Amino acid sequence: MITKEAVIAALSGVIEPELHKDLITLKMVEDIEVKGSEIFFKIILTTPACPLVEKIKSDATKAVKAIEGVTAVSIVMDSRVASDGQAREMLKLPIKNAVAIASGKGGVGKSTVAVNVAVTLATKGARVGLLDADIYGPNIPTMMGVDGLPAPINGRLIPAESYGVKMMSIGFMVAPGQPLIWRGPMLHTAIRQFLADVEWGELDYLIIDLPPGTGDAQLSLMQNLPLSGGAIVTLPQLVSLEDAGRGLQMFKELKVPVLGVIENMSYLAMPDGTKMDLFGTGGGQALAEKMDVPFLGCIPIDPEVRIGGDSGKPVSLTKPESEVAKALVSVTERIAAQVSMMAFAQAQKEGDS
Ligand code: ADP
Repeated sequence: MITKEAVIAALSGVIEPELHKDLITLKMVEDIEVKGSEIFFKIILTTPACPLVEKIKSDATKAVKAIEGVTAVSIVMDSRVASDGQAREMLKLPIKNAVAIASGKGGVGKSTVAVNVAVTLATKGARVGLLDADIYGPNIPTMMGVDGLPAPINGRLIPAESYGVKMMSIGFMVAPGQPLIWRGPMLHTAIRQFLADVEWGELDYLIIDLPPGTGDAQLSLMQNLPLSGGAIVTLPQLVSLEDAGRGLQMFKELKVPVLGVIENMSYLAMPDGTKMDLFGTGGGQALAEKMDVPFLGCIPIDPEVRIGGDSGKPVSLTKPESEVAKALVSVTERIAAQVSMMAFAQAQKEGDS
């Protein structure tokens, strides 16, 4: 007779490729059932945007099928996002992870990445918030097709909702068309308000579009927002890479974990399938190597990105088969994997202490 213990023993040999531990140690297996020669169980991933879900499933299937007498293995893949264990709980915010998307300069595609990462995570089943904190150009509402907030309830701000993502923008806090002139204390108040007065509900991920640059505004923001980590978007050109390098340095000085570097507008995908290298691909990867941080991927130039942004329809949803959408999904999975690894490392640290 096949026993549960035999199934557990088999799955103890299956390694989660990113966390480098076996599925049993990671407590990722639940509800094991043995019905004659058929085995049923659940694998609980640390993110619904797990890039290696198929590999984990097939490794687990293979391991259990190798038990003598097993004829069929049926696995339900599910996910439960782990928290980074940071101090957001102090603000009574049930937000498991907060991820900042930053850039050295404006116009490199930071907001585009933030929007597409948020909607991709939501499409995969995560509970996602998107906070537009770009005081110089809060354009996330346009990119998400949102033109205002719902009415507050009991004095609490209700985020707009679009494509399954809860969204809040610093642009909603001033009258339309008014220039935003932010000084330190105002920004401080606005950030407290975003965290304390907005009814986010429970979130697996809060994605934050930071203002570009490495000045006081960014500093003030990051000191007020306990972050799981930050990713930097850069163009392949040297000047942009230098700015991105400064951004990475800022994260390091503020002890914000660096999730990695994203190179946007890397190349132009030609209709015949070839790639036209406009600005010199590879700089983002080289920067990541030099700074010893992960490289999260290259995103090609595609006019559909701008069209999607201007019309409030993110390209990763409207053109999922395009190369640019696939690149954005891959970047999202890399970010989610980095966040999972950090949450896991944090949980281990807490377990050790
Ligand atoms: P940032 O937030 O860094 O200022 P945005 O995300 O607003 O940059 O992007 C600037 C402009 O470039 C927008 O019009 C956007 O649609 C466009 N854009 C961004 N990434 C791409 C891309 N990969 N291909 C084509 N256009 C892009």
